[in-house]
Amino acid sequence: MAVYKSKGIVLRSIRYGEADRILDLYTPDRGLVSCIAKGIRRTTSRFGARLEPLSCVEFVAYHGRTLDTITQAETLRSFHKIREDLARFEVAGNMVGSVRVLSGGDEADRRVFNLLYHGLDAIENRNSGFEAVQAAFGLKLSILAGYAPQLSTCAGCGADLGDTNRGLLYFSADLGGALCPECRTASGGTTFPLPPGTLVGLRNLIKIPLREATLEKRLRESTLRVVRSHIQAHAPGNLGVTRPVDRQPA
Ligand SMILES: [Zn+2]
Repeated sequence: MAVYKSKGIVLRSIRYGEADRILDLYTPDRGLVSCIAKGIRRTTSRFGARLEPLSCVEFVAYHGRTLDTITQAETLRSFHKIREDLARFEVAGNMVGSVRVLSGGDEADRRVFNLLYHGLDAIENRNSGFEAVQAAFGLKLSILAGYAPQLSTCAGCGADLGDTNRGLLYFSADLGGALCPECRTASGGTTFPLPPGTLVGLRNLIKIPLREATLEKRLRESTLRVVRSHIQAHAPGNLGVTRPVDRQPA
């Protein structure tokens, strides 16, 4: 019975049987792991409220054939302020869903763990501008997953889209980047227009730390659309966004 100790962020918590929960955790050294926490829903559970969705915990578990079993957990950071606020919770749920679909299987990437931790930290600590964090998070995660969107040159012809105003530009999730008007006409796939300034805004979100992410109000919708469509187009299996907690009655 191989026992191990790790830390992880609880991505999802699903009720199981009478009193148990199945938890998906993202760990820096093991990637995504699925564990069962036995008896966690009893009032006398030794886990208490330590394994709530989004909380960052240090835990001890032993390997099982399909699921590992958690035997101990200590809270490192609860992120309770996110769970107590719907606007924050929705953005966090979106970030968690992106981690699930883009960081496939149990391949560990410490940078993904750190990005998620800093993303949750930014959401908990600011009072507005959650969309900016969500967009910046999605972009940075895409890059870590090897799917950097092409935002400086046209994904069709390679023309520099720099800071010059080349007229209306477009985004193609299929081609993974921005398109000049000529290539948009030739591409035939699904594209959508980008209001002026969107590309510069996107490049800026990639450059600056998550906690400093800002987004002009007029660019919010187009920016989030780019990030969402880009992640969806590159998600292995295209699983969509998963909620961090099940909502069905017990
Ligand atoms: Zn082009």
